[in-house]
Parts: sequence; structure tokens; C-alpha cells
Amino acid sequence: MSGSIRLHIPTPLFAGAEITASPAQAHYLGSVMRRAVGGSVLIFNGEHGEWRATIAALKRDRLVLHLAEQTRPQAPDADIWLLFAPLKRDATDLVVEKATELGVSALLPVLTERTNTARINPERLEAIAAEAAEQCERLTVPRIAAPRKLWDVLGDWPSDRHLVAAIERDGAARHAAPQPGPSALLVGPEGGFTPVELDALRRHALVVPASLGPRILRAETAAIAGLALLLAPAGG
Ligand code: SAM
Repeated sequence: MSGSIRLHIPTPLFAGAEITASPAQAHYLGSVMRRAVGGSVLIFNGEHGEWRATIAALKRDRLVLHLAEQTRPQAPDADIWLLFAPLKRDATDLVVEKATELGVSALLPVLTERTNTARINPERLEAIAAEAAEQCERLTVPRIAAPRKLWDVLGDWPSDRHLVAAIERDGAARHAAPQPGPSALLVGPEGGFTPVELDALRRHALVVPASLGPRILRAETAAIAGLALLLAPAGG
């Protein structure tokens, strides 16, 4: 990877601030990336843009940074959520990483009738999202919501947000396309949605059934392909 090292540090950022990073970030910068006192890195917190910082102190588990100047102001993100049924651990990790790179603003695990696992590790997923945001030059890290049942999510769905539901083998569904205003993509579990769920989705006023092409994609592929279609035209 070329370019400056970027770190997400959720603390207020302003000129002259002295910031203590986490022990994991100290380890990464010192032991993995071999940086030393006097070197520089970029910092963001999701609110105050991106800042250049100088390494003021660096030990095995202690990193102190001195903020110099802002390199980018905060800019608004695309407002797109991804609703996904938790998958096996590696597949869920992949979805979180790629959805962050593609620009989702929030990741909402939803428990459908055929969801195989209700277990997710929020801290792990937050760490994966933060790392992906650091790597892809985002200024924010997407929010990771607590898992909820699909029925509950549909029950209090916000009235201003379209929900693009990826549904395979639906002759009536249009190809997935960007929606005006806030939106979300819903991808089902490996076993797909049940007939009852499909019926409820098709009846919901804000749901837009969408095809991702003639082939049956794995859930993680469907999430990545669907987000690319919804986000790419807007520049995400
Ligand atoms: N087990 C299901 C079957 O064979 O009919 C396939 C489910 S697929 C592995 C998992 C999820 O990916 C689906 O619930 C859907 O949301 C999405 N998906 C996969 N292929 C799709 C396509 N061609 N169009 C729209 N959505 C798709």
C-alpha cells in the first residue's frame, strides 16, 4: 500500500492537540510499520476531517501524536445502509470490509427466518470497518447496529428511506439502481428469503425489489455487487 498511514482515532481533533492512540495502534505503527518519533501520519475521527500528525512519543504500547494541520475538511457521506443476514464469520468480515470501502454509512445485521447464525461480534466488526476506512481514505467509519429481526426492522422502517431488496429469480424486479435520497440495500441469507418474507417485502411501500442479474450470487457477492450498483454512480 502506498501513501500515508491513516489512523482512526475517535477523539476531538484540532490544531495543536496532543492525542494518545490505542496500544494496538502503537504496536502497528512502531513494530509493524517501523515508524519512529518525528514521523508523520494522518488522523481522522469521523467528524473533524483529516489531520496530519507528528509522532511525539512511540513505545511498544504507547503512541502520542501532535496534530499539525488539517489536510481535508469533513465532507458528507452517501446515506446508504446495508442490511445483511449474518453469515459465517469470514463471509461477514468480508461484507463489512467491502461495504466500508464502497461507502455505506451503516451496517445493520438482520435476522431473517433462514439466517443461520444470530451471533456477531460487534467489536470485531467495528475494528474491521475502522481498518477498511483507514485503508480506503474514508473520513468516517460506518455505524454497526445491533442485530434485529427483519420483521422488527420492517415494522419501524423510516418513511423517507427506500429499501432496495435483492431478490433472485424475480422476473418483475428491475436491475438494482440508485434511489433518490436516503436508501438501503437488503441482502438475504444463504438460504434466501422465505415466501412469507418475500410477500411482506413486496407489499411494503418503501421496498424496491431488485435483481442483480440472472445468476444466483452468494450472499456476500450479492452485498458487494448490489452496493457497487447503488453507490458507484454517485461517486459514493
Ligand atoms: N438459496 C437461494 C436460492 O438458491 O434460491 C439463493 C440465496 S442467495 C445465495 C443469498 C441472497 O443473495 C438472496 O437472498 C438475495 O438477497 C441475494 N441474491 C443472490 N443472487 C441474486 C440475484 N441474482 N438477484 C438479486 N439478489 C440476489
